[in-house]
Amino acid sequence: MKVDVDMSICLLHGQCVIAAPAVFSFDDAGGLVWVAEVDEGLRGDVEAAADACPEQAILIG
Ligand code: SF4
Repeated sequence: MKVDVDMSICLLHGQCVIAAPAVFSFDDAGGLVWVAEVDEGLRGDVEAAADACPEQAILIG
């Protein structure tokens, strides 16, 4: 599955990092980074992250 984040609306609160730490994280500069091609086994975590994102910035393909 493909995962993308609309960085034009992401406000970096980190809810996604809490919900799916294997997919989303903050880099040393405080920017959000994520795995773009995620194993199907992590779909539940990614969907939880998308639900938790207050900006609806997470796109699942
Ligand atoms: S929860 Fe949404 S807005 Fe917040 S850091 Fe994650 S993707 Fe960005």
